[in-house]
Amino acid sequence: MERYEYLVIGGGSGGLASARRAAGYGARVALVEAGRLGGTCVNLGCVPKKVMWNASSVAEHLADARGYGFDVEVRGFDWGALKRARDGYVERLNGVYRRNLEVDGVERIEGRARFVAPRTIEVAGRRIEGEHVLIATGGRPHVPAVPGAELGISSDGFFALESLPRRVAIVGAGYIAVELAGVLHALGAEVVLMLRGEVLLARFDALLRDTLMEEMSGAGIGVLPCLHLERVEREPDGTLAMLSAAGERHSGFDTLLWATGRVPDTATLGLDAAGVAVDSAGHVVVDALQDTGAERTYAVGDVTGRWQLTPVAIAAGRRLADRLFGGVPGARLEYEDIPTVVFSHPPIGTVGLTEEQAHERYGQSGVKVYTTHFTNMYHAVTQRRSATAMKVVTVGERERVVGIHIIGRGADEMIQGFAVAVRMGATKADLDRTVGIHPTAAEELVTLR
Ligand code: FAD
Ligand code: NDP
Repeated sequence: MERYEYLVIGGGSGGLASARRAAGYGARVALVEAGRLGGTCVNLGCVPKKVMWNASSVAEHLADARGYGFDVEVRGFDWGALKRARDGYVERLNGVYRRNLEVDGVERIEGRARFVAPRTIEVAGRRIEGEHVLIATGGRPHVPAVPGAELGISSDGFFALESLPRRVAIVGAGYIAVELAGVLHALGAEVVLMLRGEVLLARFDALLRDTLMEEMSGAGIGVLPCLHLERVEREPDGTLAMLSAAGERHSGFDTLLWATGRVPDTATLGLDAAGVAVDSAGHVVVDALQDTGAERTYAVGDVTGRWQLTPVAIAAGRRLADRLFGGVPGARLEYEDIPTVVFSHPPIGTVGLTEEQAHERYGQSGVKVYTTHFTNMYHAVTQRRSATAMKVVTVGERERVVGIHIIGRGADEMIQGFAVAVRMGATKADLDRTVGIHPTAAEELVTLR
C-alpha cells in the first residue's frame, strides 16, 4: 500500500489549492483527478463562461459603437472560431495546472478514486492511504427527471456546442440560467427563460431580481414564470416542444438547456467505506473546520453544498492546509459576507445581507436602506440603454453596512473593494467620508442620501 501525508481527491478549485498549500509546508501530497485538471471552474464553468460573457459584451459594444461615431458594420460572428480559441485557452490552463503541481512536488494520480476503507482509496489499480484525506470532488449538473429530459443539454453541453443555436429554451432561474441566457441572446439567438417560480435569482435582493427581470425582458429575452414542465417532445420537424402541467405547449426550439442546479459527485465515491455521512441531497456533511466527523477526513468546495463558488472552495482548501500542515490552529473559512457576481447583462455584484434578510435578523425598525437607480453615462450617446441600481443595507444607530447590492455596467468589478469595506465593518458614515471618483457609477455608492 502507498502512503501519503495528504491525499486529495479531486483536482478542481478546492483540491488543487489545498494540495499545493500543503506541499508548500513540506507535506508529502498526492492528488487524484478523474478528468481534466482545474475541475469545473476551468473546464466547464467560470473560465469558458467568462470568455463567452466577454464575447457577448463585445457584441453589445459593437451595437453601441455607432452612437460613438464609428461607422461599423458587423459582417458576421464565427461561433466556431470563438470556441476553438476558448478551448485552446482552457487547454493552456490545464497545462499550467499540471506544471504547477510538478513544481510544488505534488504527486498527480489519474483516475477515479473510490474509498475501500477509512482514509484508504483504490484508483487505477492502486491502493493508497492518506494520513489526512480531503474530499473535493465537486458536482455536476442536475437534470429534472421528466420524460424527454435527455433531449436537452446542461451547461456542460453548452460548452460543447459547435454553432450558435437559433432558438433556445432555458429552464431555471439561477446563476447559470441568467448568465447563459444573456450570452446566447447577445450573440444573436432567440432565448426563452422558463421559471418554475415567479422570479429570477430568488435568493438575491429584490432590487436585483426586479431590475434584472425588467432588463432581460426589455432586451427581448422571453421570460415565462410559473411554468411547471411535464415533458419534452421532439416535433416531426426536429425541433423541441416543452409541455407544461397546465397544458401549454411551447414549441419550435432547436436547443433546450437545463440550468436547474447541481448535484454533488458523491454517489460512486464509496463514502460508506470511509465512514463519511452525506445529507439528503448527497452533500458531504462538514463542520466549521471542514471536518466530516470521520477521523482525519475532510471536505471542501461544491461537494459540501455551501456557497458553490471557486474562491470559496479555494479559501476553504487553503485554510484547511494551513491548519493541518502550517501550524495555524483553528484556521478556517468564515462563510459570511462572501461577495459574488452574476455575469448577467447587466452584471450583478452583491455582498452581505439582502434587505429581507436584514429585516429578519435585526427587525423592521433596526434596518435603514439607501437605494438609487440611474442610467450609466456610457449610454449618454448610445441607442441601447441599460439600467443601474444600487442598494446599501445598514443596521443599528451607527448604520453599519451589512449588505451592498449592485446591478449595472461595471458592477462585477465594483463589488470586490466594497466587500472589503463590509468585512471591516464599515458604516454609512465611512462611505460618506470617502471622496467619490468622478465620473463613475461607483461614486454613487459614497453619495447616497
Ligand atoms: P470542482 O471544480 O467541480 O472539482 C472537482 C474535481 O473532482 C473534478 O475535476 C472532478 O473530475 C474530480 N472528481 C470527482 N469525483 C472524483 C473521483 N471519485 N476521483 C477523482 N476525481 C474526482 N464560480 C465562481 O466563483 N465564479 C463563476 O463565474 C462561476 N461560474 C460557473 C459557471 C458554470 C457554468 C458552472 C457550472 C459553475 C460556475 N462556478 C463559478 C462554480 C465553480 O465552478 C465551482 O464552485 C468550483 O469549480 C468548485 O470547485 P470544487 O473544487 O469544489 O469542485
Ligand atoms: P442555482 O442554484 O443558482 O439555480 C438553480 C435554479 O434551478 C433555480 O432557479 C431553481 O428554481 C431551478 N430549478 C431547480 N430544479 C428545477 C426544476 N425541476 N424545474 C425548474 N427549475 C428548477 O444553480 P445553477 O445551476 O444556476 O448554478 C449552480 C451553482 O453554480 C450556483 O448556485 C452557483 O453557486 C454556481 N455558479 C456560480 C456562478 C458565478 O459565480 N457567477 C455562475 C454559475 C454558477 P427555484 O429558484 O425555484 O429554486
